[in-house]
Amino acid sequence: MPGLGASEAVTIAAEELPSFEEQSASDVLAWALNEFHPRIAISASFQAESVVIIDLAAQIRPDVRIFTLDTGRLPQETHELIDQVRHRYDLKIDVIVPDNARVQAMVRQHGMNLFTRHQTQRMLCCHIRKVEPLRRALADLDGWITGLRRDHGGARTDVAKVALDPDHGGIVKVNPLADWTSDQVWDYIRTNKIPYNALYDQGYTSIGCEPCTRAIKPGEDERAGRWWWEDSGFKECGLHEQMPHERFDQELEWIDEATKP
Ligand code: SF4
Repeated sequence: MPGLGASEAVTIAAEELPSFEEQSASDVLAWALNEFHPRIAISASFQAESVVIIDLAAQIRPDVRIFTLDTGRLPQETHELIDQVRHRYDLKIDVIVPDNARVQAMVRQHGMNLFTRHQTQRMLCCHIRKVEPLRRALADLDGWITGLRRDHGGARTDVAKVALDPDHGGIVKVNPLADWTSDQVWDYIRTNKIPYNALYDQGYTSIGCEPCTRAIKPGEDERAGRWWWEDSGFKECGLHEQMPHERFDQELEWIDEATKP
């Protein structure tokens, strides 16, 4: 990850993790930043949870590290928010982009909008544009901070406030808002007048890439606007829950071959 200092890695075993369940989001963040900074970073999607976490963390460590994954398909509103946050908190934000050669190989084979054709191709696109860049971003870190909340549902229902992340080498994964509701997030944003993604004012409740996100209809689930054309209830991009790799392993092998130096 660009700009990371050469400080020593801090590792922690699962049994050494204190219990955080009764602790507030600020307390969880304070522990994580005191323990791991500068080898921990906020992974910001620039949804509502991200701006709350950035606001809380900046009060603890004004130099908190932040990265975001720019898939190349983000809405302009998200880019605008990234710059608003940069200026408001005077923070450097690392923008991690996908590997150009791998995107080029994927698009050459399957076209620009492969994600609407089949869920397998959607997962391939999420893998190349999100999962692989995340792995790169986390490679030199001992911990990452996310905006996961239990009431997002699905596999997030049981998310712990702090846990080790077996999908990324056992580093610490910190979810300070795990027990927050959507109302709490929005109360915090309004009370503290912090900037948020303008798409929320157009009926969006979960915001990802521009072509794969829409506003929801009354009564729909918070994440119903993500990949809404898919029948499956699997509303994940692989960042927090592994996608069924066997469905696109052959595609990855082909991309590996096509991008060999
Ligand atoms: Fe590709 Fe859509 Fe996934 Fe973004 S959300 S990486 S455009 S499939």
